Amino acid sequence: AARHRVLVVGGGTAGIATAARLRRAGITDIAVIEPSDDHWYQPLWTLVGGGQASLDETRRAEEKLIPEGVRWIRAAATAVDPDAQTVTTDRGSVVGYDYLVLATGLQLDWDGVPGLADAVGHGAVSSNYSPRYAPYTWELIRNMRSGTAIFTQPAGPIKCAGAPQKIAYIASDYWRRQGLLDKIRVVLVLPGDSMFGIASWRQTLEGVAARYGIEVRLSSEMTALDGPSHKATIVNNATGAEEILDFDMLHAVPPQRAPGWVAASPLANPASPFGYVEVDKHTLQHRRYPNVFALGDVADLPTSKTGAAVRKQAPVLVANLVAEMRGVGKRKSYDGYSSCPFVTARDRMMLAEFDYELEPSPTIPVIDTTKDRRDMWLLKRYGLPAMYWHGMVKGRI
Ligand code: FAD
Repeated sequence: AARHRVLVVGGGTAGIATAARLRRAGITDIAVIEPSDDHWYQPLWTLVGGGQASLDETRRAEEKLIPEGVRWIRAAATAVDPDAQTVTTDRGSVVGYDYLVLATGLQLDWDGVPGLADAVGHGAVSSNYSPRYAPYTWELIRNMRSGTAIFTQPAGPIKCAGAPQKIAYIASDYWRRQGLLDKIRVVLVLPGDSMFGIASWRQTLEGVAARYGIEVRLSSEMTALDGPSHKATIVNNATGAEEILDFDMLHAVPPQRAPGWVAASPLANPASPFGYVEVDKHTLQHRRYPNVFALGDVADLPTSKTGAAVRKQAPVLVANLVAEMRGVGKRKSYDGYSSCPFVTARDRMMLAEFDYELEPSPTIPVIDTTKDRRDMWLLKRYGLPAMYWHGMVKGRI
């Protein structure tokens, strides 16, 4: 059976950034297990759904991103045995490792809301969370003239927790510019008891929602969807009240959790209801298996799951993995940095950056990012994608 010094499971944002950095650190005999021919830059899917970016811009061939000198195993992992130090794939192969990096991302649970799996992608129901549907979101927004538009966020941790709100603002801004917003009722369903966990940004978001006349339902989630008859059941978890809303378009975000085989493995945190991998929140090293590390969406870390967080996690993980391998070297610590770029209009963005302490943690301190700004929107639309393709996946930043 094949065996590698370092085996990375997942060739998405976290897996590729990690593999590239390991190569730069001079590590050899690395393999990446990844079944997909496509590599996606998901943050732009919000702008695909908002009619401001093409899906093509968000995709690259995986083949081009696997760093030189790294072996690509084109398969999906189906099980891991951390005692035997092996990973099994759907091709029936068993791959051994000395060190393992889990970077599988999370799993979208379309069946988590009854009716959603059948409804999404047609009949006025869309979701920017899949490249299959994001272009359809824009079709719905563009063709809407009047009626009710619902935007939902599920309970539980999700990747880019701002994304369910952003598309509601982009849509409302478009309808306002078309002179249609007066005829469209916009309902935003959020599971939390406020629009955002940190006060300075919360106030700006409340102002944005009020400016568009959006009805915000807090402590609420969609519990069922009847696609053919265009009805969504919304439950307020604080009061238990249930209402059934008729809609003319619905943007849904599915519930999310760790891939089933990860959740079922000994590497999952038994205390994580979503099956995420139990790593030390500062070192990203597994708490029970020191030769295992995890980062990105699949890691059980008490911060927002974003690509921005991965950018700060990858250098920490690689430094600690290399120190573990060599028995010497400086260890690094991850402070929980994550960021949430709230697009609030066609040309405005508010960048919320914070850490485990929920302290604002600005990259550029002189800019007041508690307000939505045009320069920040340009960063989101053009700056960050360029940084991603030229820097992050090459292990440079
Ligand atoms: P991914 O990038 O999802 O990669 C996981 C990889 O693992 C995939 O390539 C997958 O094919 C592979 N994989 C899955 N299962 C297996 C298996 N069994 N075996 C092998 N490989 C497997 N982040 C931001 O920073 N800013 C934003 O504005 C932002 N907006 C977003 C908007 C949307 C609509 C979405 C969906 C996400 C957004 N994100 C944003 C989040 C960001 O995309 C993720 O946090 C980031 O991609 C996480 O990286 P990852 O490598 O953990 O997961």
